[in-house]
Amino acid sequence: MNFDDLNGVFQELSCIPADPPAKRELCTRCRRPLTVCWCPFLPREPLQVKSSIIILQHPGEEKRCLRTAPMLEYSLPKENFLLLKGRRFSSGINEKLKAVFSSPNSFVCYPGPDAVDIETLPTVDVNHEGYNIVILDGTWPQAKSLYANCDELKKIKQIQINSKVASEYVIRTQPTEKALSTVETAAIALAILEGKPNLKDALLQPLKALCNFQLAHGAETHQSKEFLIKNGLHKSQIQYCSS
Ligand SMILES: [Zn+2]
Repeated sequence: MNFDDLNGVFQELSCIPADPPAKRELCTRCRRPLTVCWCPFLPREPLQVKSSIIILQHPGEEKRCLRTAPMLEYSLPKENFLLLKGRRFSSGINEKLKAVFSSPNSFVCYPGPDAVDIETLPTVDVNHEGYNIVILDGTWPQAKSLYANCDELKKIKQIQINSKVASEYVIRTQPTEKALSTVETAAIALAILEGKPNLKDALLQPLKALCNFQLAHGAETHQSKEFLIKNGLHKSQIQYCSS
């Protein structure tokens, strides 16, 4: 092959149109495809609350397609939201967490024989500094392991959302599903503790939008096990916090 031939080959190669693999454009905020981005359903301004949501997230949770923690992150003021990722947590890793572990106003959403029904706690009033609500983000086995690995967590009081309240609010993916996602747990907890039922609706708009996208996807994907797993809505991946 002489130079001209070679040059011709290169020219031919350069004419082949660049054809990257089809890639769906992702929203820079929620990191979901733009067609199913839930950001327009977030509150325009961060919701005013006195209580704080502290999410201790198992690393396995982050890998899911649907992570509901960001819905909270973008809906609440920065000072009322803390997300930490890891398998083991202690007050030594974060100043805010240290304050949470030592505050009498802190509760962990975790079922147990001594867990207090959240509805029995007094609502936040003008004189109250607000509650710290710790939510363990992951599947039930992951949440159990986070709890077991944190002695400081065991020292704060447990709360739970009773099943009647949970079944009233849960956005169902299956007829018998009574478990709550992380955003639902936080939305119900804040609505009850802050004494503002509207908070629940405002916080759940992105999740409702997501479920509507799911319905619009058509019958063949709706509620199929594969679809639910892909979107983190399958029973095995949903929060436990509703017993
Ligand atoms: Zn988005």
